[in-house]
Amino acid sequence: MDKAYNPFDNFCSVLDKAAAAIDMPANDYEILKHPEKELKVAVPVVMDDGSLKVFEGFRVQHSSLRGPCKGGIRYHQNVNIDEVKALSAWMTFKCAVADIPYGGGKGGITVDPRTLSTKELERMTRKFTAAISSIVGPYQDVPAPDVNTNAQIMDWFVDTYSTIKGYDARAVVTGKSLATGGSLGRPDATGRGVSIVTKALLDVNGIDPKATRIAIQGMGNVGSVAARIIDSEVGAKIVAVSDVSGGIYNPNGLNIPAIYAHVSQRKLLKDYEEAGMTRINNYELLTCDCDVLIPAALENQINVEVAENLKAKIIVEAANGPTTVEADAVLEARGIQVLPDILANAGGVVVSYFEWCQNLQCYYWSEEEVNEKLNVKMTKAFGDVIATAKKYNLSYRLAAYAVALNRLVSVSKAKGIIFGA
Ligand code: GLU
Repeated sequence: MDKAYNPFDNFCSVLDKAAAAIDMPANDYEILKHPEKELKVAVPVVMDDGSLKVFEGFRVQHSSLRGPCKGGIRYHQNVNIDEVKALSAWMTFKCAVADIPYGGGKGGITVDPRTLSTKELERMTRKFTAAISSIVGPYQDVPAPDVNTNAQIMDWFVDTYSTIKGYDARAVVTGKSLATGGSLGRPDATGRGVSIVTKALLDVNGIDPKATRIAIQGMGNVGSVAARIIDSEVGAKIVAVSDVSGGIYNPNGLNIPAIYAHVSQRKLLKDYEEAGMTRINNYELLTCDCDVLIPAALENQINVEVAENLKAKIIVEAANGPTTVEADAVLEARGIQVLPDILANAGGVVVSYFEWCQNLQCYYWSEEEVNEKLNVKMTKAFGDVIATAKKYNLSYRLAAYAVALNRLVSVSKAKGIIFGA
């Protein structure tokens, strides 16, 4: 049975396990169980019909030990403070594993953005930006897209923030459109990173990608791009995909270019059809006959029941926090390899870092340069995690946390935060 799900507790419990595995004293990392700053704001929006709605928004800065806080802004009806705290802590660890000079942060608004018009979405974004503007900034805290937010929302954010501050503060957010200082390669970056580490893990296991069947939960920006790149560049067979409307399965492989074109127009899979496919539900997707499962949707998807019944031998966590702590223990006991979120989906924030560097130096790179640098960063992070897993005989999740913990704690010791006056 899974405990009542609290993602921040989930984070703390993994942290304790990783610290114990490398004999790290509790005092060294206690600070990482306490976000540095939590801001809750009211976001008043005049709706198109003239009425007023007030939404709840959050920005949590988990840690600035390794640099400015960094992490996305999520618009979703289930956003709450425990989720934002967990997401911000995962960002701290993700940036540390990827070895980019950031801490972790995250924000969100409790809203289903599908119920808003474009104008309402814009007004809400501008109000939220103003409400958190006193704590974000290019050297303080740098937001980015997350679930249900995109380049357009980042463009409104940067415009509002720059107006308030009185200068072109384009480095205050990443994931912008090219017109406002975004980076080539950023829209594909998370999916491309997932593809890089999936291929690397198949290589470690001596598995031929061409003989590998993959199922992907979620056809948002991350899942759809990962599917496209794994299909076209890695050559594995994608046998199942899903979105909020349900899933589709074909043991002989799905037509990914056609599915990518369909979902890119913001159409749902329930309106997609191809020869030889069958329709499946979310549970059937997670437990379908495949070799690699890629959850690319939301948290808390792989629970104990799913973990006991899924057939994949490898899980690559493209979503943040898709596996519960209890399910993780089941997967480990079953010998299923899990490439954790803080490594597997780091490609997005790595190219966010490249975007920020380009903004600060006012000098821009080609898409080939961005992809090449992403490849170098992801491959290095993957290698560090695999080496640590071997050294301490740990799961990849605990190994990734151990890598991050060592990097974070060495900074806090050097700065004297814990033992200083
Ligand atoms: N929202 C993405 C994540 O969870 C990207 C964050 C960023 O680029 O700052 O990693």
